Amino acid sequence: MTTTITETYGVDPTPTPLALLLLGREADPNSERGVECPGDLPPASDPDLVERARAAKAALGDRVFILGHHYQRDEVIEFADVTGDSFKLARDAAARPEAEYIVFCGVHFMAESADILTTEDQRVVLPDLAAGCSMADMATAEQVAECWDVLTDAGIADVTVPVSYMNSSADIKAFTGKHGGTICTSSNAKRALEWAFEEGAARSASSEGGGGRRVGEKVLFLPDQHLGRNTAVREMGFSLDDCVLYNPHKPNGGLTAEQLRNAKMILWRGHCSVHGRFSLDSVNDVRERIPGVTVLVHPECKHEVVTAADMVGSTEYIIKALDAAEPGSKWAIGTELNLVRRLAKAHPDKEIVFLDKTVCFCSTMNRIDLPHLVWALESLVEGRVPNVITVDPETEKYAKAALDRMLALP
Ligand code: SF4
Repeated sequence: MTTTITETYGVDPTPTPLALLLLGREADPNSERGVECPGDLPPASDPDLVERARAAKAALGDRVFILGHHYQRDEVIEFADVTGDSFKLARDAAARPEAEYIVFCGVHFMAESADILTTEDQRVVLPDLAAGCSMADMATAEQVAECWDVLTDAGIADVTVPVSYMNSSADIKAFTGKHGGTICTSSNAKRALEWAFEEGAARSASSEGGGGRRVGEKVLFLPDQHLGRNTAVREMGFSLDDCVLYNPHKPNGGLTAEQLRNAKMILWRGHCSVHGRFSLDSVNDVRERIPGVTVLVHPECKHEVVTAADMVGSTEYIIKALDAAEPGSKWAIGTELNLVRRLAKAHPDKEIVFLDKTVCFCSTMNRIDLPHLVWALESLVEGRVPNVITVDPETEKYAKAALDRMLALP
């Protein structure tokens, strides 16, 4: 028998009217992007929203290409031309140069990446400018520049290669490109780290006059500590002691020069507020309630959660694993709730539950709702281009260099 999330936890994850109000028109006090949506936003209760979205999309035809991230609401995904993770969507946008407008139903850093990878003539629109990402916001350009100074003072900057997760601002991607590093996704983090350690080795060798590999090549991993640690320890044989945590809110990151010199992975103290909520208790609890359940979690979860899970992988991996799962199999999924709900609906022959007891949407992803999408599309029909996301040419140049390095990974 298939059990729904609501039946399992007695929780109705549908947003309350208050949540809709907060997600609809108001600024989010916790987001640095806290920008109210300008213009005449249709009310969420408007019964004609679906029809209006259809009509506006039809009027724009091939001039618009709508991208929907996996964590978006169903009401938004319905209008997406393609769905995917942030990198797939940016590439999909780049493959549609004929589309004048790319409407990105996702968060700010994703729209920036789409702008970097699309042509100069294409405009990338984010339906709500307040759709930021708490993880990306945890590493600012100033903080990262300061960190690099700390590494320089410790004498290790020249053997450290930055690797930045896709979930970072264009500024951080540009920093990465400028310092010879690469971007990674949750699917290719291991390959990116292997490349970075090779690159670090090459730099060490050249700084020693080509005298071979020396111990001590390092990676500065930004901004998600969990993805960095999980990849290094689970997949590459590093120990937890090889990793140190750089806290940008403490002098010198809260680390001594010796700690930095001894470390192999310098992890930035950032995390995803959605995946960071899953705990060891969530895993133990679901195993007790559902005997035989397979626990499948995203690598942005804490190390103890990932260690206790049966399977670990990116959103694309999770989708494929459930597609391939046997009918009647039982799954507890540790990723964003919109996606888990959609997967449960798509596989009624399998028992798919959300890993945690509490509702766990990404609140900034959820800011893109049908009223904002309708508003953005109707604005385009009227000849106004709202909420354009533009990355300046200098930042774009270096950020693209880091993205290109990722594309060239073996
Ligand atoms: S799920 Fe986490 S990493 Fe993704 S946009 Fe939301 S806060 Fe950022």
